[in-house]
Amino acid sequence: MERTLTSETLKKVGEKVKLLGWVSVVRDHGKITFIDLRDRSGIIQCVGQNVPKVSTESVVEILGTVSNRPEKLVNPNLETGKVEIQIEKFTVISSSKEMPFPLGGDGYDIEELVRCKYRYLDLRRKRMTQNIRIRSKVTSFLREWLTSRDFVEIETPILTKTTPEGARDFLVPSRLQYGKFYALPQSPQQYKQLLMVAGFERYFQFARCFRDEDPRKDRAYGEFTQLDIEMSFVTQEDILQLVESMFTELVNKLFPNKKISQTPWPRIPHKTAKEKYGNDKPDLRKDKNDPDELAFAWVIDFPLFTEQSKEDFFYGSGSAKFAPSHHMFTAPHPDDIKFLDTDPSKVRGLQHDLVLNGFEVGGGSIRIHQPEVQEKVFELIGFSEEQKKEFNHMLTAFSYGVPPHGGIAPGLDRLMMVIQGEPSVREVMAFPTSSSGQTSVLDAPSRATEEQLKELKIKVIK
Ligand code: ASP
Repeated sequence: MERTLTSETLKKVGEKVKLLGWVSVVRDHGKITFIDLRDRSGIIQCVGQNVPKVSTESVVEILGTVSNRPEKLVNPNLETGKVEIQIEKFTVISSSKEMPFPLGGDGYDIEELVRCKYRYLDLRRKRMTQNIRIRSKVTSFLREWLTSRDFVEIETPILTKTTPEGARDFLVPSRLQYGKFYALPQSPQQYKQLLMVAGFERYFQFARCFRDEDPRKDRAYGEFTQLDIEMSFVTQEDILQLVESMFTELVNKLFPNKKISQTPWPRIPHKTAKEKYGNDKPDLRKDKNDPDELAFAWVIDFPLFTEQSKEDFFYGSGSAKFAPSHHMFTAPHPDDIKFLDTDPSKVRGLQHDLVLNGFEVGGGSIRIHQPEVQEKVFELIGFSEEQKKEFNHMLTAFSYGVPPHGGIAPGLDRLMMVIQGEPSVREVMAFPTSSSGQTSVLDAPSRATEEQLKELKIKVIK
């Protein structure tokens, strides 16, 4: 007999069906037992006599007949609330131990480490299941939207060389080349620019980015996902318009209950944002208590440089006056290039930050495509000759016909967190790393074996 999904039972009243799924709830009324059976499509009530004892969350097979519920027993809160299954045969396929925590509620009050340790159970929770499913709908929508506009989805290496975005690198030792290390990409920034040199003109990727920085609520430790986008022959205006229409359509299609507070999205110069709101990611919601309001905004006209500090990893670690405000590939505003030599602090960058309800949910820029400007920026951020060499491949690539280009990278985790009204990005990730850097379920970081270390010629110093 073929399997029927719980959601399909409404169309099968009077028919015999085979259902497979998890026991969500058991209500034992002596002779009669009620079982709420859950599968990927929903939940249905099953009822039978002399049903063998079964623990909740066990996987079972139920053979039975779909029947209409009497009018007064219809459950309007359940999609299948008009029907129920009269159990004829009940088989336990895999019984479940007692849950380490309840799955019924929203789970916010359960200790995070425990939720992460049993993440495969935590994900059975309705709220979590919905978050992960809607995230998949969002990525499908974006993929379709972009590919239908000539964008090419291209993967870029994970084992690579440093691409500084202002954080510490994760290093991976090379076994084949003694003493050398790969860095995990803080973003695909250099590769996507090289893809513009290669002539693709329109690129995107759901890119995993790795940054060894301290975790925060709106930032997962270690890794996160960006919708990485790059385009050739575009102005900043083109990028802003593309992203605005993409996300507007996304919200209208997938989140019809949400309202975008202002269209076109306000564009706020960085200086104004700082003066008026005291920060560069203002929360422009009209009613901050309205869970359905989405206040998108652009912040533009950032200074190209900020003052360098010890926290600016890589960029000479505090030895120069300037650090890039965005990253070192961001182009200076054409009107301000003249100040690069005289007063770099006056130079605005062609950077754009995407802000949503007070969170920075993306950033990007028009890039430098003139080797001499790039070299000037390297100099100002205090690169040694040695450090400059690390980026020679970019200057070389730019000497073979580079189109003017630019892009952006909205952060998927943060975007989903805000749209879903979740308090942390970890609530919209299937297997997040905990705030102490512990991975979900699998116990990492963990020790390497003596053998592995020997092969890598690495010694762990006590
Ligand atoms: N690579 C940048 C980032 O990760 C985004 C961009 O400039 O497109 O923030």
